[in-house]
Amino acid sequence: MTSVAGRRAPARVGDPVAAIDTPALVIDLDAMERNLAAMAAFAHAQGLRLRPHAKTHKSAAIAQLQRAAGAVGVCVQKLSEAEALAEQGVPDLYISNEIVDPAKLARVAVLAGRVRLAIAVDSHLGIDRLAAALKAEGTEVDVFVEIDVGQGRCGVAPADAGALALRVVSHGLRWAGLQAYHGGAQHLRSAAERKAAIEHAAGAVRAAKASLALAGLACPLVTGAGTGTFALEAASGLWGELQCGSYVFMDRDYADNHLGPEPLGAAPVAFEHALFVKSQVISVGAAHAVVDAGHKSHAIDSGMPKVWQGGFEFRNGGDEHGILTPVLHTEPGAAALPSLGDTVWLIPGHCDPTVNLHGSYVGVRGGLAQGVVETVWPVDARGCLT
Ligand code: PLP
Ligand code: MN
Repeated sequence: MTSVAGRRAPARVGDPVAAIDTPALVIDLDAMERNLAAMAAFAHAQGLRLRPHAKTHKSAAIAQLQRAAGAVGVCVQKLSEAEALAEQGVPDLYISNEIVDPAKLARVAVLAGRVRLAIAVDSHLGIDRLAAALKAEGTEVDVFVEIDVGQGRCGVAPADAGALALRVVSHGLRWAGLQAYHGGAQHLRSAAERKAAIEHAAGAVRAAKASLALAGLACPLVTGAGTGTFALEAASGLWGELQCGSYVFMDRDYADNHLGPEPLGAAPVAFEHALFVKSQVISVGAAHAVVDAGHKSHAIDSGMPKVWQGGFEFRNGGDEHGILTPVLHTEPGAAALPSLGDTVWLIPGHCDPTVNLHGSYVGVRGGLAQGVVETVWPVDARGCLT
């Protein structure tokens, strides 16, 4: 038995795909590597830094593949994610989020003694507490001021960026630039809507840079962008670093975005589905089949998974079950129900929270039909919510 973190893993290296236990989180390694290469090539061609978001995969192994493809490091969203990835040897981490709790900030300061670390801030209190923690520990981090570029989540109004950056500098902290990520824009379905949202975000970045200039400060870097919009941020000439996360796996929700004409005059970067839940038919009724994967196997906050083989609709059957019905039920024989024991491959609706449900990844080489298990990786930062 291969065990990952003390649990039975769904497969062993060298197993044929057919032997992977279900439900299991499976990576098509060939597809994932093409996604990694495509994003790295885009960033390189645009002269931009790439710092992919590890909130998607929570895996040191994948972070290292991204670094090997040219990424400067990775982003994380939580301190405990940073600690877990640092523990596994990832040397350059950016917590692209706010932390204001003094006990957590003390851990940030300790971690900064082990890896190159950056963090986002959006309050004077947060900056003061960060400075106190770093002073006590004698360590340094890069500090980005987050501005709200349209989502109405974290971040100060652009006009306030200068005052916050001055506070960063007045403490002698390393002033790094602006965090400018528009989470609300990523899944707007039409290319025109996403373009309008990032035009708005670009306006906010320009206003924040003007505020910094008024304060007498330069802006070393603007970091942000996600899988749905990165070409737009790149085309603006304002962003210097891309934080895309989901491109590595491409979930169903992202595939539902309509790609429009590329703003750079190049072909859109088409990413492939690389993350699947392997499930098995455990019951068959007159007009439906039931698989052993429910919403404990895949997140449903962005809708149901798609059945990779096509021809079936997936309905939630509860924690441990999924119900398949043929899409073309009016045409007999068009999509015969799968049989007991058959494998059904699911493309998760939302990759990040799906990953967080599993203890390990099974990496398959040579395709889902005929491939062989090449890797079994732990989901290192699974459950790291703090
Ligand atoms: N940057 C930040 C701050 C995020 O919160 C996220 C995702 O939520 C990303 C980057 C990555 O975005 P995506 O997974 O849409 O590529
Ligand atoms: Mn997500």
